[in-house]
Amino acid sequence: MVRRPAAWEPAEPTTPDPDPQGRARDLAGFLSGRRTLALTGAGLSTPSGIPDYRSPGSPRRTPMTIQMFLSSPDYRRHYWARNHLGWRHMDAARPNPAHRALAALEDGGIVSGVLTQNVDMLHLKAGSRRIVDLHGSYGRVICLDCGHRLSRYTLHRSLEAMNPGFADRVAGRGAIEVAPDADAMVADTASFVVADCPQCGGTLKPDIVYFGESVAKDVVAQAFSMVDDADALLVAGSSLTVMSGLRFVRHAAAHGKPVAIVNRGTTRGDRLAELKIDHRCEVVLPLAAVLLRDAAGHRDSAGHQRLQGGTMHTVA
Ligand SMILES: [Zn+2]
Repeated sequence: MVRRPAAWEPAEPTTPDPDPQGRARDLAGFLSGRRTLALTGAGLSTPSGIPDYRSPGSPRRTPMTIQMFLSSPDYRRHYWARNHLGWRHMDAARPNPAHRALAALEDGGIVSGVLTQNVDMLHLKAGSRRIVDLHGSYGRVICLDCGHRLSRYTLHRSLEAMNPGFADRVAGRGAIEVAPDADAMVADTASFVVADCPQCGGTLKPDIVYFGESVAKDVVAQAFSMVDDADALLVAGSSLTVMSGLRFVRHAAAHGKPVAIVNRGTTRGDRLAELKIDHRCEVVLPLAAVLLRDAAGHRDSAGHQRLQGGTMHTVA
């Protein structure tokens, strides 16, 4: 049973590879003539304003564990109060050129699908079609008692009705303190009313795999079968710190499938990779996608628009 560990260590700083255009040519060469599965992590979404606590230079953080969530009603009240204010920031985030490049490569028959460790739904927003959300999604909520699922949008309406004016009151005082000391946190959110499951009155939790929890077996099985169906694996924006990602790299390598990695900084899969590019995904992936599209001499209009259209959107 693989569980997400509760340790959060920033990666060692490295110098990025010079000549991203040349590295993109290397990546285009790797992808050419293969059906490649992408495995993506937090580094892919940082240009969209979603923080990556493992990037070089990131602060050390202690993430919430499932044990903390289950430990006390006060903790859950504080969690949901923060989530009520914060989830719209994630909902407002937009795909960046790296997400759009992977969607365009899927359109072009080069990428066979995406396994993602991110819960931000940005691959879906970019137009990728075959997506496995390894760690769940911020857009769904699940009941821990009966398994009922509902959308985060539906829950939002309930929480608004149960906590009229809460968001405005908190905004008037400035953001809720992200404090390691629980008393300060609880004081800010003591008045928040938490919603229970509409079916059974049980405890609701975002449908996200927290640290200390396991990825569902059917999700893991689907992910392995997508690795088996692909010719190669491309890791993008993950340092592969947690086994939930690294195991797919090991599986691919053990079955003779070539692995490429694009990531700022070292990863735990570097030794298994045929190609390692230490650079930002939102730079290298679009360059490689354009090279492949031009090489194919094929002007796919949807893919073209995805690569050219849009601007980077940052929600800080
Ligand atoms: Zn329930």
